[in-house]
Amino acid sequence: MAQDPDCIFCKIVAGELPSLVVAEDEDTVAFLDVNPATPGHTVVIPKDHHRDLLTIDDETLARTTAAARRVAATITERLDVVGVNLLNNCGAGAWQTVFHFHVHVVPRYAEDPLRLPWIPAPGDRDEITATHAALTA
Ligand code: 5GP
Ligand code: ZN
Repeated sequence: MAQDPDCIFCKIVAGELPSLVVAEDEDTVAFLDVNPATPGHTVVIPKDHHRDLLTIDDETLARTTAAARRVAATITERLDVVGVNLLNNCGAGAWQTVFHFHVHVVPRYAEDPLRLPWIPAPGDRDEITATHAALTA
């Protein structure tokens, strides 16, 4: 099992730091976030250390994503939710603070305070076309 001795989430996997585990299998563990966005906010991680979305291998990503979906299903069954958000932050500039790949599973409640982090509005056509070219040229 690939571990980073300085990683908080590796310490949770190893049982060196306490956590409230809600689901676990051979490859993944899911535990409640200590700073929950809403009640039941869960972090789902691979047991192996992978820095982020760009470095994790496809197989481990698939297993972790499947585990996150199972947690979303359990939350939907057992909590009085109106929906669930799955979120991955990749890179410090995109809010990642723990550099061990994880998927946030955030239960959503009627009247909860969470809002989209952007304001949907029509984009500039030229900018969209130029970005498309940058991504596909
Ligand atoms: P990120 O900001 O990297 O996407 O998410 C890291 C998440 O891990 C944050 O939501 C933060 O609250 C949570 N977190 C950080 N340290 C701990 C910890 O020691 N225990 C638990 N349960 N969650 C943690
Ligand atoms: Zn780690």
